This record gives sequence, C-alpha cells and structure tokens, in this order.
Amino acid sequence: MKSNMDNCLFCKISKKEVPAEIVFENDELVIFPDINPKAPRHYLVVSKKHIGSVKEMVKEDAELLGKMIWAAREETRKRKINGYKLIFNVGRGGGQIIDHIHLHLLGFN
Ligand code: 5GP
Ligand code: ZN
Repeated sequence: MKSNMDNCLFCKISKKEVPAEIVFENDELVIFPDINPKAPRHYLVVSKKHIGSVKEMVKEDAELLGKMIWAAREETRKRKINGYKLIFNVGRGGGQIIDHIHLHLLGFN
C-alpha cells in the first residue's frame, strides 16, 4: 500500500505548509510538540522523508531512524528531561493514526 504523500499532515508540517511550533530542525527531521500531549512533555520527531511507518521502511532508512532516536536524546538533554519513553506506533492496531513515520518522545518530568 502506497501512502498518500500529497495529503500528508506531517509532510506538510515539515515543509511549513501547516503550522507547528518547530523546536528543532535539520536537513532530515523536525521536532515539534504533540497537539494532544499524553505526557507532561510530549514531542514528535518527524522525518522529512515520507515513510509510511516502520512497516514501510527499507533497510537504507535504518540510519535515518537511528538519527531520529539521537535527535530525541539530544532534545531530552537540552530540556533536562530525565525519564522518558520513545515510541513508534505501527499500524492502526498499534495505535498509529498519522501514516508518516514519527517517534513519540514522552517526557515524565
Ligand atoms: P500516532 O497515533 O499516529 O502515533 O500519533 C500521531 C500524533 O500526532 C498524536 O499523538 C496526535 O496528537 C498528533 N497530532 C495529530 N495532528 C496533529 C497536528 O496537527 N499537530 C501536532 N502538533 N500534532 C498532531
Ligand atoms: Zn508524509
């Protein structure tokens, strides 16, 4: 199944076509707060490349996903978030609603 990149919310946010409070950006990813936080500090790490989900990643995407984890880790250090969860929801059954790969950073302090 090919996901629809032209009508993808997180593609649009990463291209600044839809507003979000971007707190970090580099050439490969953006980080912004989740609009409906599930933890005291909840951020989304979103790749600029459209990948539907972990299911749809190819082996060459592994480095990018590692960089998403690294960026999340750097964000926790910057913000002094000490205890956190990093979560990829995968597929509807796994709680994924937005079909563009993203890493949840849930900070509990
Ligand atoms: P999923 O359930 O797909 O893993 O997570 C999608 C997340 O995106 C949800 O936690 C939801 O609150 C968040 N979200 C949905 N729409 C928007 C939006 O327009 N802006 C922001 N900042 N977050 C959004
Ligand atoms: Zn997308």
